[in-house]
This record gives sequence, structure tokens and C-alpha cells, in this order.
Amino acid sequence: MSLDYTSNSVRPRLDELVPSRYALQIGNIDVLVVSDGVLMLPGAMLAHNADPATRAAWLKDNFLPPDALDWALNVVVVRSGGRTILVDAGMGVEFPVPKAGQLVHRLEAAGIDLASVTDVVLTHMHMDHVGGLLVDGVKERLRPDLRIHVAAAEVKFWESPDFSRVSMPPGFPDALRKTAKRFLNEYGSKFHTFETEYEVAPGVVVCRTGGHTPGHSVVRLASGGDRLTFAGDLVFAVGFEHPDWYNGFEHDPEEAARVRTSLLRELAANRELLVATHMPFPSVGHVAVAGNAFRWVPAIWEY
Ligand SMILES: [Zn+2]
Repeated sequence: MSLDYTSNSVRPRLDELVPSRYALQIGNIDVLVVSDGVLMLPGAMLAHNADPATRAAWLKDNFLPPDALDWALNVVVVRSGGRTILVDAGMGVEFPVPKAGQLVHRLEAAGIDLASVTDVVLTHMHMDHVGGLLVDGVKERLRPDLRIHVAAAEVKFWESPDFSRVSMPPGFPDALRKTAKRFLNEYGSKFHTFETEYEVAPGVVVCRTGGHTPGHSVVRLASGGDRLTFAGDLVFAVGFEHPDWYNGFEHDPEEAARVRTSLLRELAANRELLVATHMPFPSVGHVAVAGNAFRWVPAIWEY
């Protein structure tokens, strides 16, 4: 018997001390938030247009380290009308980040077989959202008739992506370009593109917002009077108090800020649940509003 698990990049880990999944129900729709881990990034990327002293004060006030901090990395599995939909796929392991890229074994730990996934929805094609499907052995385990829903504008954008407005550490633009290109090569034949919105399954609608990337999309769930929006990268923890602070990954920061503010305003008004990729796990909560500032109100866990 071999005890060598090192060659298998999707090996199960038995030593996890933290919860990595959180389930909830939106009417008849099953929702499972799964953590891909956390991503360590420079603090300046939270707000590259903010005055450094103001940004440093915000980090301190939020008990966060001044230079680099962990961003949560959440994906969502949605089940509705007999379909199993994976929304985003985490970081993968091509550009190893010590604490991210855990999606596959965490799906398995949650009892979700890759072969049961009928649809993938991509909020956008940054590597922390598509990389999980590029892990060795994953493609072979997915169904041959898998549909990957992505906005046509997103596919177009990555043909010749504009990085002139972002603020990323060195090496990131190349890694992002390379990963998106590889993803297109591997999975382009499974793409089902849409212009503005598409109903993937009953009550599960993917809607293009643009902003973060030109084809960035959110997933809106509605069933039996309950509503939840998975906002992808439109909203970060800092974006509630400072929706006008530019995130370093935003390709059109002004538009991203405009879309973020209008989504937060809408969610506050209709009192629906919000889940977002980089909000602290499980990132399920509500949006409160007071004037021009918003407040994140985490949901109470149901055990
Ligand atoms: Zn992201």
C-alpha cells in the first residue's frame, strides 16, 4: 500500500479544523457556499485610489494587517430543477497560492461528485474564478455535455484584455492572461454565451453587470419569495463603507464602483441575501444602508 499522496493534486485532506461549506435554501433552490481557501494579496489592492493613510486607518480599524491580507475565496453550488450548477471554480493550483485551490476536495467532502455538475456559471474569467477547472484530472471527471455559461462580452474581452486601469502586483496581468487563454482552449467548446441575462435553471438567472471586467456577471436566485444574489467580484469587504474605492483587479474602476453602488442600493431596498466571492466565508448576509454608506450584516448561521 502506498502512502504517497503527493502526486495527486486533488487528494482529500483529512486534517481540516474549519468548516468549508455552508448550506441554505432559497425557496426550492438548494445553495451551498464552498470555500476554495483564502488568497493573500497586498492591502493596497483593496483601494488603490484611496489616500494611503486613510486606507491604513481602515485596515487598522478592521483589525487587519497593514501590508498583506487574506481574501476569502468562495464558490457556490446551486441545485434547481434537476440541474447542479457550479458558480465559479476557485484558484486551482497552476499559480500556487498556499491556502487557496482547495475546491475539488472540498466539493468531494460535501458529497458533490464532479460528474454530477450539469452547468458551470462564470462570473468572469480571472484565474481565481476559473483555475479550479484547470487542475489535473478535473476535466476528465466532468460530464461531456457540461454547459459553461459566460457573458459573450467576457469572452470577447479576453481576446485582447485591457490592463491599463488595474493596479496589480507584478506578474499578475501575465498570469491572468495566460490562465484565461488556457481556459478558453480547454473549455471553449462547452461555452454557452449570453448577452445580458440567461435563466440557467428555474429561478437561477445569470445577469451581466460589467464593471469589474466588461463581461462580469452576477447570479440571481429567486424562489418562493426568497431571493439571493451571488455578486462575484462586484463587492469586497471594504466596498460597504467605501463603495467608491477602486479594487486593484477592476478593469474599469469607475464603472465597477457605479455598478457596485447600484447593486448594494438595490439589495438594501429589497432586503435580499448577498453572497460574494471575496467576503469572509460563508459570506451570507444582508446589506443595510444609511445615506451613501452601506453596512454588511452577516446572517446568523443556522445549525
Ligand atoms: Zn476574484
